[in-house]
Amino acid sequence: MTMIADNLQKVRTRIATACNTHGRPPEAVTLLAVSKTFGPQAVREAFAAGQTAFGENYIQEAVDKIVALADLPLEWHCIGPIQSNKTRLVAEHFDWAHSVDRLKIAQRLSEQRPKGAAPLNVCIQVNIDGGPTKAGVAPEDALALAQAVVALPNVRLRGIMTIPEPAIDFEAACAVHMRARALFDALNAAGLVLDTLSMGMTGDLEAAIASGSTMVRVGTAIFGGRTYPTRV
Ligand SMILES: *Cc1c(COP(=O)(O)O)cnc(C)c1O
Repeated sequence: MTMIADNLQKVRTRIATACNTHGRPPEAVTLLAVSKTFGPQAVREAFAAGQTAFGENYIQEAVDKIVALADLPLEWHCIGPIQSNKTRLVAEHFDWAHSVDRLKIAQRLSEQRPKGAAPLNVCIQVNIDGGPTKAGVAPEDALALAQAVVALPNVRLRGIMTIPEPAIDFEAACAVHMRARALFDALNAAGLVLDTLSMGMTGDLEAAIASGSTMVRVGTAIFGGRTYPTRV
């Protein structure tokens, strides 16, 4: 077994164990493998071990990889910051965008989605803990943005995404993730039909699953430490 296959198996076990502990069916949580900074060969290894959904932060790096891997039936998720001048690349190459935090970006993604392509799945990124990067919409503005995004023709609003600051322990991580869960529930109660709560990474996936995450985004535990610094 390759290192990546072995790591993937361990992550799947962590997810299954957390689901079991917190009374959730194992299929309630999707694993997104975050392959940023790793090359196409690492993605091929993960695919060979059964992984099909991949997350990327840096759009140009991702597009190069997506093109190089066009022979595989992969699902690509944009999880990094999206500037206006990059929306076309996202609309043309990705299946999902988790990091939509303003209407203008969602409008451009909808306008630029190629004719005949399935709608782009989108999540609204919410700055759930007021973290210093300030990425994401404020929780109190999420409903208005979600209602505007839902009206766009070529995107399909699936849910919300959060990247909280690292917490000191499990309880503290759960406290923040539960705020995202409460917002997710409130948006659904307001009439939106959302199925995706994108939260949890290598360090906090158990707390995220305990709090209701439906999609965990895991990089380090699958591919190992990254050798060039992330820019977010
Ligand atoms: C890098 C990244 C991840 C994965 O983080 P790990 O700690 O390596 O699992 C998840 N989500 C986002 C938005 C990221 O940028």
